[in-house]
Amino acid sequence: MSRDPASDQLVNYKKSKKGDVESITTGNGAPIDDRANSLTAGKNGPILLQDFHLIDELAHFDRERIPERVVHAKGAGAFGYFEVTHDISKYCKASVFSKVGKKTPVAVRFSTVGGESGSADTVRDPRGFAVKFYTEDGVWDLVGNNTPIFFIRDPILFPVFIHTQKRNPATHLKDADMFWDFISLRPESTHQVMFLFSDRGIPDGYRHMNGYGSHTFKTVNAKGEAFYVKFHYKTDQKIKNLLVSKANDLSGSDPDYSIRDLYNAIATGNFPSWTFYIQVMTFAEAENYRWNPFDLTKVWPHTDFPLIPVGKIVLDRNPANYFAEVEQIAFSPAHMVPGIEPSPDKMLQGRLFSYSDTHRHRLGANYLQLPVNCPYRTKIANYQRDGPQAYTNQEGAPNYYPNSFGGPADVPSAALSKFQVSGDVAKYNTADEDNFSQPALFWKNVLNEDERTRLVENIVGHLKDAADFIQERTVKNFSQVDAEFGRRLTEGLRKVSRGKSAYSNL
Ligand code: NDP
Repeated sequence: MSRDPASDQLVNYKKSKKGDVESITTGNGAPIDDRANSLTAGKNGPILLQDFHLIDELAHFDRERIPERVVHAKGAGAFGYFEVTHDISKYCKASVFSKVGKKTPVAVRFSTVGGESGSADTVRDPRGFAVKFYTEDGVWDLVGNNTPIFFIRDPILFPVFIHTQKRNPATHLKDADMFWDFISLRPESTHQVMFLFSDRGIPDGYRHMNGYGSHTFKTVNAKGEAFYVKFHYKTDQKIKNLLVSKANDLSGSDPDYSIRDLYNAIATGNFPSWTFYIQVMTFAEAENYRWNPFDLTKVWPHTDFPLIPVGKIVLDRNPANYFAEVEQIAFSPAHMVPGIEPSPDKMLQGRLFSYSDTHRHRLGANYLQLPVNCPYRTKIANYQRDGPQAYTNQEGAPNYYPNSFGGPADVPSAALSKFQVSGDVAKYNTADEDNFSQPALFWKNVLNEDERTRLVENIVGHLKDAADFIQERTVKNFSQVDAEFGRRLTEGLRKVSRGKSAYSNL
């Protein structure tokens, strides 16, 4: 019987051992004579406290789970490289881009966002697309998504927004009222909601979707000149999406569809790749641009800021162990390297804090010492010490600074580029910062007629479950994108609600 490589993983493991069978040991490495029976006083007697083997097995098992990621809990990972194909050193001095042909090892984690780690892969949801570059100057994490934009533009709303994507605290069910209430009260979400309910809202696995760094970043060249930059990584496998009916079937028959697809592609040598581009905006252009370049609910149109090719991401190795290399992989937008810096994008500023904080909670203060996270192409030298699982603790080097004993010294060349800020300290209301003009371009210029029809159907199929007043408010927002869009939604909702009375579906 022919099976796919994912199904044959154990068979292939056995083959790789060529008949060798290792001796079973306790965690402290001592051989175990009998793995199947515990140590008892007499045949039917109680178990002895001295049975360290049993006690250690049970105690370790009790601790197998670490906290699930609050978002992006379900995912797949793979390893490979980034290769530079075009010189962008005039924009960025980061060593990863230093010369054409240069290859840097990468790890990538793809994910859904709202579901738990056991949820189905083929749901309508944004997809995470996070890339870890193991550079000689440290790890650079580009923690992106398959959309160039996001639902909100101020991180103060992130926790409450995510609550609306998860379960109702009373019923423990996904809740259409929670979802659409928030969306319709915060119209800056309109652009991303339209992406989400378009065909690209359910990609066919992880290989057939684009990735975007989404935020605006800053890059700095060797002369110290700084630029604003966006990162795009476009699939070389071509965009492919799942029809709703197929996605629903797969949620039942193969909820791990995307993990399996990625694993099998790599295991059969069909290595997926993405072409990597940047968009560049000068500081002067940023001053006068018609849209706020730091607003995560908006793109930079390609005609104003064309895609500049940079390189390729290729994935050619599956993880050898999922938990060690994917569950424990820890991306943080704050992991930057010289030449790449944050912009004032408020959402990025919030993420700079929260990702690393999550890892300290999930994995502990020494999460960067785990093999998959450690910047293995450079040497860690600092004054952090101790904490749980301190694997490398910098031996006898001084643990205080300054010191007179050869402890690690400052690197002035790594200073951030300087920039000026001004303005009054205040909470600035950004709710009305032009929420509809880019969604209008998306509706009119990007989607074709069939895609517009499916967008309307997909929204109606979900919005119909929300309370009437929320439906009305949501349609009013979409009408501001395009009157025809609003009209078609109203029509669609009217059709599905005809004959439906309160609780008629119970
Ligand atoms: P362009 O015509 O130059 O590009 C349109 C973009 O839309 C392409 O990148 C295309 O991706 C992408 N696209 C096509 N269908 C969908 C879909 N269903 N969901 C999401 N993206 C899709 O347009 P502009 O740059 O002038 O931008 C116009 C509008 O296009 C924007 O307002 C925005 O809504 C959307 N867009 C723009 C992007 C950007 O970074 N400028 C990126 C993605 C979308 P591909 O080429 O891979 O098919």
